[in-house]
Amino acid sequence: MTVYVGLGSNMDNPRRQVETALQELGALRHNTLLKHSSLYRTRPLGPQNQPYFINAVASLATSLDAEALLDQLQALEQAHRRERTSLRWGPRTLDLDLLLYGGMSIDTPRLSVPHPEMTKRAFVLLPLSEIAPPDLEIPGMGRLRDLLPNLSGEGIERVDR
Ligand code: ATP
Ligand code: CA
Ligand code: CA
Repeated sequence: MTVYVGLGSNMDNPRRQVETALQELGALRHNTLLKHSSLYRTRPLGPQNQPYFINAVASLATSLDAEALLDQLQALEQAHRRERTSLRWGPRTLDLDLLLYGGMSIDTPRLSVPHPEMTKRAFVLLPLSEIAPPDLEIPGMGRLRDLLPNLSGEGIERVDR
């Protein structure tokens, strides 16, 4: 199964958090890292009195079911000492969102796939478009190619290597 994971960080050297997380994703059991995007610097969602984010998207080949993969992603977040606070969209060392799990739609108490907000977020769709085919179908939302023009590129820039 090919899956796409969104990465984000805005604490404790965000660029290194994301670069390390990309390596760790590839080292997870039952997963292979296929591709990853460039890094992007993006304005935070929600509270504005927090640092800019570094975001990226990775594709993985996995033999895990979606919930087991979410367990692994959450364990990685914990390994990066992410602290859960009551502040929605507050600062974090590492956020890993399961964006797409093959062409499946999943709706359980723990998991909504496709990630419900992904098509509104330039920091998801722009990096995704670097590594996914333009005709990628986002279940219930349409093709990547058709969703991209709806986004503003404001508040997001690619990080030079
Ligand atoms: P957003 O989901 O809007 O990007 P967030 O990433 O800040 O916000 P979190 O606090 O990281 O939200 O996650 C809250 C819960 O969302 C998690 O405990 C998880 O069970 C649930 N969740 C539902 N769907 C997904 C998904 N596709 N990927 C990751 N977590 C998900
Ligand atoms: Ca998120
Ligand atoms: Ca999350």
